Order: sequence, then structure tokens, then C-alpha cells
Amino acid sequence: MKPKKKRYTHIFFDLDNTLWDFKQNSFYAMQSSFQLFNIETQNVEFEKFFEVYSKHNHSLWSEYRKKKVSKKELIRLRFKKSFDELDIKGIDPELMNTCYLNEMPKQYYLKEGVLELLEYLKNKRYKLNIVTNGFTEVQHKKVESSGLKPFINKIFTSEEVKTPKPGREIFEYAIKSTNARKTNSLMVGDDWEVDVLGAIGFGIDAAYFVNSKKVKLEHLKNSQKLKNVIYKIGELNQLQSIL
Ligand SMILES: [Mg+2]
Repeated sequence: MKPKKKRYTHIFFDLDNTLWDFKQNSFYAMQSSFQLFNIETQNVEFEKFFEVYSKHNHSLWSEYRKKKVSKKELIRLRFKKSFDELDIKGIDPELMNTCYLNEMPKQYYLKEGVLELLEYLKNKRYKLNIVTNGFTEVQHKKVESSGLKPFINKIFTSEEVKTPKPGREIFEYAIKSTNARKTNSLMVGDDWEVDVLGAIGFGIDAAYFVNSKKVKLEHLKNSQKLKNVIYKIGELNQLQSIL
């Protein structure tokens, strides 16, 4: 089915791994923290450390979304569990976390084609916003250091709104604060459950960014008989066909 152009006015982007290349940036931020704490002197290679950390971090974020762990626990446990598993001694998990969070927003890699897309959308007078699960200070710094800031109208973080995506409160808050209408809003994100089902559950259309050059723009049939549309895109510039 060929997607027809729809009149959107407000676009809500996820930040991590949709605009800001979280994977690449977190790798470099962790590498620099790893060096600052001299972890290689404990016979652990950086690649192994990063793999173990990523595993624990991923599962703790999932617990956080289910409200099973607090922000404070998440911060401590993602390093504590990595240190325990790799037998790394003498480093305060919270201190390493602080170091990593300091390094993280200094990184500036964006996903391919982001600035070109935002330039295109800005010229067409769309209101561009960010709705992100993450800590307010960190997410704002990322937007600044990567050069996204001039394009972005407002940034909404789960920490500020106190409910992470896919909870409807954060979408509701974002829509109201930007004076948007649900029917004229589009959420763009790389996470099916968090971004796409979150937006659809709240009642706005969504574009699912799958990060694969092989995927062409697709207009997904909605089997659940919901009124909203889901677009599937492999690359961000495919949004230009619908916007
Ligand atoms: Mg994401």
C-alpha cells in the first residue's frame, strides 16, 4: 500500500538511536571512562567490559520502565553488576557512573542523514520536538553538543515528566505543552514497544525506524483495528515521502 501524505504539524522524535547515535557514542564515552579508571590494569579488555556492561544496562532499563527499580538503583547496579561479573575491584560504581555520564553528552555522532532531514522539515515549518526516556541534564547536553539544538522546539524527558515511554502521560504532556493536536502529530522512534506502541496506545500516528538500509517505506496494515497509522522506515530520509 502506498502511503498517502497526511497533514502533520508536529513531529516528536525519540533521541537515542533515532537522532543521536547512542550505540556509537556510548562506546566512546565508556572507553574514555574505562581509561580514566585504569581498568585495563585489572586484566580486563575494554571490548569485554563494554559487552558485559551493555547486557546489564539493557536489562536494568527494562526493569526501570516496569518501575521495578529506581533511577538510583539503576545507576549503581549497572556498574556494580559489571564489576562483580568481571572481578573488577576498588572502583566505586557510582563514581564510574558519574564519569560515564559526564563523558556521554560530550559525544556528538548522529545517525545518518539526521541534519539533512531536520533541515528539510524545518524549512517546511514542522514543529520538531524530542520525547526521550532518559535523564534531563544528560539528554539536553546531547542535543547541544551534537548540533541538534537549533532545530528542536521542545525536549521532553521521562525524568522531567516522571513517566517513561510507553506510558501515555509523557505523550499527553508533550502534545499539550506544544499545543499540538493528536491527529496532526507523528512520533518517530526506533523502539517498537516504547515509541511505536506507546504513541499508538495514546492515539497518535507513529513511524517505526528500523535502522536498516534494506527496508523500504511501508505503510503497516493495522491488524488491531486501531485508528492510527504506523509507517515502517529503514532510513530517516524516507520520512520525506510522507512529510
Ligand atoms: Mg531510541
